[in-house]
Amino acid sequence: MRTCSVCDREYPREEPWRCSCGAPLDYASQPLPDSRPAQFSRASGVWDFADFLPMGERVSLGEGWTPLVDAPEWDATFKLEYLHPTGSFKDRGAATVIAEALEVGADRVLEDSSGNAGLAVASYAARAGLDAKIYVPASAKEAKVRRIERTGADVVPVEGSRESVTAACIDAVENGAGWYASHAWNPAFFAGTATAAYEIAAQRNWSVPDAVVTPLGHGTLFLGLYRGFRALEQAGWTDAIPRILGTQAVGYSPIADEEGSTPDAAAANDLADGIHIRDPPRAHQIRHAIDETDGAAVAVSAAATERERDRLSGAGFHVEPTCATATAALPQFRERGELQDGDDVVVALTGRND
Ligand SMILES: [Zn+2]
Repeated sequence: MRTCSVCDREYPREEPWRCSCGAPLDYASQPLPDSRPAQFSRASGVWDFADFLPMGERVSLGEGWTPLVDAPEWDATFKLEYLHPTGSFKDRGAATVIAEALEVGADRVLEDSSGNAGLAVASYAARAGLDAKIYVPASAKEAKVRRIERTGADVVPVEGSRESVTAACIDAVENGAGWYASHAWNPAFFAGTATAAYEIAAQRNWSVPDAVVTPLGHGTLFLGLYRGFRALEQAGWTDAIPRILGTQAVGYSPIADEEGSTPDAAAANDLADGIHIRDPPRAHQIRHAIDETDGAAVAVSAAATERERDRLSGAGFHVEPTCATATAALPQFRERGELQDGDDVVVALTGRND
């Protein structure tokens, strides 16, 4: 079963892709294991955490178990999500959303993306033998588009804003062109990104950090982390939930703007293209996660993003600009008191440099 995240209406698992009220759907319940195993094989990708995952099918390209490394220059620990098979944390959600597609009998999946989610969904669809059709902005990076095409997926470039790409994909879904494997809408995707939280806790011997920091567009990782840490606490594997801190791009920062934490007079941050989301369908859930964890969101300028991306490269972390917003925001979080001296903080480095 699935339930609406706003009006609680219930639906079968197979369809529709959103509620008749327009809001995103979620699984009616979160599966929780009884007790944790003494150790994990670390050989099954996200499926090492199958007891937390609501689907019976499995697809894997070796995602998950990304390293957690010390970054003293930032007074933080980095979770190297950019080391995933297709270069971003989206592989976690692609593994589970494609498994869900198999479970509901879909034979073709549709997704809209600025790049990373499209490549992840296309790659896992190829692995599972499903057809994929990926809608991308006409302005998307050519290298990324080529890589999507090489999986055998159909790529549909759409002129205009990021919103018009989503609109074109939704039109096709509504017209029966395929099953919507969306990283913004499909709850199966968020079940997968929650595995980042399970791993962080496992890698720290079942202690949770004071805070985790991640770029925030649709909230695909932000909400995954919240849901994952919440499930761990409910299962009794951990005893706290970290503050969840999100970083947005100036000019595309609906959540940070509500919190009054956008720098004045800065130009739009056109570098951080992975989080150019002005109206995330799960905004109500992002706000809820911030309230529940004493979290926060701030907006980061293009200048700070560029500076920080160079600094990360200079330290050996080869990440894309969107990802650099997460470390670029650390001074802001510290100035605002959302991070205190001595806080134990994990920063997700989400996507690799192309
Ligand atoms: Zn509803």
